[in-house]
Amino acid sequence: MRIATQTETINLYDLTRPQLETLLAGWGFSIYHADRVWAYLYQQQLQSLAEMKGLRPDLRQQLEAAAVLAPLATVAAIDSSDGYTRKFLLGLPDGQSVETVLMRFEGRDDGEGRATACVSTQVGCAMGCVFCATGQMGFLRHLTPGEIVAQVVYVDRLLRQQGENLRNVVLMGMGEPLHNYDATMAAVDIMTDHKGLALAPRHITLSTVGVVPGIRRLADEERPIHLAVSLHGATDAERQALVPPARRWPLNELMAACRYYLEKRNRRIFFEWTLIEGKNDTPAQAHSLGRLLQGLDAHVNLIPLNPTAGYDGRPTRSAAVTQFQSILAEYGIPSTVRQRRGIDIAAGCGQLRADKTRLHVDSPTS
Ligand code: SF4
Repeated sequence: MRIATQTETINLYDLTRPQLETLLAGWGFSIYHADRVWAYLYQQQLQSLAEMKGLRPDLRQQLEAAAVLAPLATVAAIDSSDGYTRKFLLGLPDGQSVETVLMRFEGRDDGEGRATACVSTQVGCAMGCVFCATGQMGFLRHLTPGEIVAQVVYVDRLLRQQGENLRNVVLMGMGEPLHNYDATMAAVDIMTDHKGLALAPRHITLSTVGVVPGIRRLADEERPIHLAVSLHGATDAERQALVPPARRWPLNELMAACRYYLEKRNRRIFFEWTLIEGKNDTPAQAHSLGRLLQGLDAHVNLIPLNPTAGYDGRPTRSAAVTQFQSILAEYGIPSTVRQRRGIDIAAGCGQLRADKTRLHVDSPTS
C-alpha cells in the first residue's frame, strides 16, 4: 500500500502497524519505538504529537516534520430522546463532514452487543438508493483509512470517559464500503490490531448494497468480519426501483456471489430489508424473499424506513412487519426487526449532514 511521498504529510491514523514500523525503520528507529507510537495512538488515544512526551526527542521531531495526527472535530452532536443514540457530524481536514453514530443496546450477560459505533466510509455515496439521505446527496469523495479509523477512536474515547468500551463497529454509515474497498479494509486491519484498539473481527459488520466484485474479494480474503447485504427487493424490478446498483449487479449475480462467500467463509450473511409501506412489505414479497433465501445460512434484518426529506415513503406498520416476519419463518429464515434507534434525531445515514446543509443554505445569518 502507498504511504505518502516525501512531500506529503502522513496522517498517522492512515497507517497499519507494519506500515508504521516501516516508516520508523526508514528513520532508523526500532519496532520498540513504533510500538510506543502505536500505543499512544490507540491505547492512550492521545490527540496530538505534542502529548507523546515519552518519545525520544529526535523521533518526535521526525514525526512533527513528516506526519500529523488528525482527530476529527465535532461539528454537531445530537441525542435521541430515548437516550440510546448519539449522532455526530464530524469535520474532516478539507472542510467536508461525515456522520458517526454511537448506539447503545441492551447488553447481554457476556457484554456482547452493548456500545456500537456506526461509521462512514465515504463523503456522500454514488449508489443512489432512493430512500437514503446520503444517496440523495451524491458522491463527494472516499474517506482514507485514517478518516475511518478516526471515527472509531472518537467514539471509543467518548465511551472511555464514561467508563465504557467500544465493543462493535458497523460499517453502515455514509457511503458504500465495498466501493472504497482498500481504505475500508486497511481501517479494519487497524481497528483489529491486537496491540491497539483490538476490536474482535466478529464484532465488525460491513454492510453493502450488493457490490458483487467486492463480495467476491471479501470471500477470498482472510478477514473474519460479518457481511450484511442490503436487498430491499427480491426481484430485479423491485430492487432496481429502490437500489440503482441492482441494474449493474442483478439478483442472480448477487446471490451467486453470496453463495460463493458462504462456501468460502462459512459465515452467516445478514440480509437487510428496509420496510417501506406499500412498496416492499406485502405477504407476496415476503414469500419471494423466503424463496430467494431458503436453504442459505442467512439472517434477515427488517428495518422500518427512517423517513427522509427527499423521499415520500412511509415505514411499514407493526402488524405488517409481524406478518412479514412470520412468513419468513415459514421458510426457516430467522429475522430480527431492527429497533429504529434515534428516529427523532434523523438516524438514517446522511440525514444529519443533509439537515445541517439545509440549515446553512436556508439561514440568511449562517
Ligand atoms: S443506503 Fe448505503 S449504499 Fe445506498 S445510497 Fe445510502 S449510503 Fe449509499
